[in-house]
Amino acid sequence: MTVEEALQVLKDHGYKYTGKREALIRILARENRYLTAKEALDQMLGDYPDLSFDTIYRNLALFHELGIVQMTEIDGERRYRMRCPIAVHHHHLICLSCGATQEIHACPLNAMWGEPDDFVIVDHKFEVYGYCRSCAESASVR
Ligand SMILES: [Zn+2]
Ligand SMILES: [Zn+2]
Ligand SMILES: [Zn+2]
Repeated sequence: MTVEEALQVLKDHGYKYTGKREALIRILARENRYLTAKEALDQMLGDYPDLSFDTIYRNLALFHELGIVQMTEIDGERRYRMRCPIAVHHHHLICLSCGATQEIHACPLNAMWGEPDDFVIVDHKFEVYGYCRSCAESASVR
């Protein structure tokens, strides 16, 4: 999702425009990886020195509810990334260290079974965790 699309979603749902919301959306779009609320806050403090964690948490939760961001939980901590712009169904490899993602263009659901007879599937989640190349390399250097 682009910054413009995200701002439009907020507008369509009647949320008022704030510079802080736009700044947070711009950070999510620019980073293009899973961020913790703390990482997002750190990047905003330059422009908004008295911004609270609470505001960041609330806005990230709102963005998630509106489908602007995707959320995952690593080590019990929520991380958010801008909704992936690739429209065709796919999954992600997620780096536990930096939050970078790579696409997996296969769906394990297809391999598991055909349509079950007695269950209507509406959604599913499949994520693979590990380390991206640059995090794996910097870890082995240490
Ligand atoms: Zn993706
Ligand atoms: Zn990484
Ligand atoms: Zn799938």
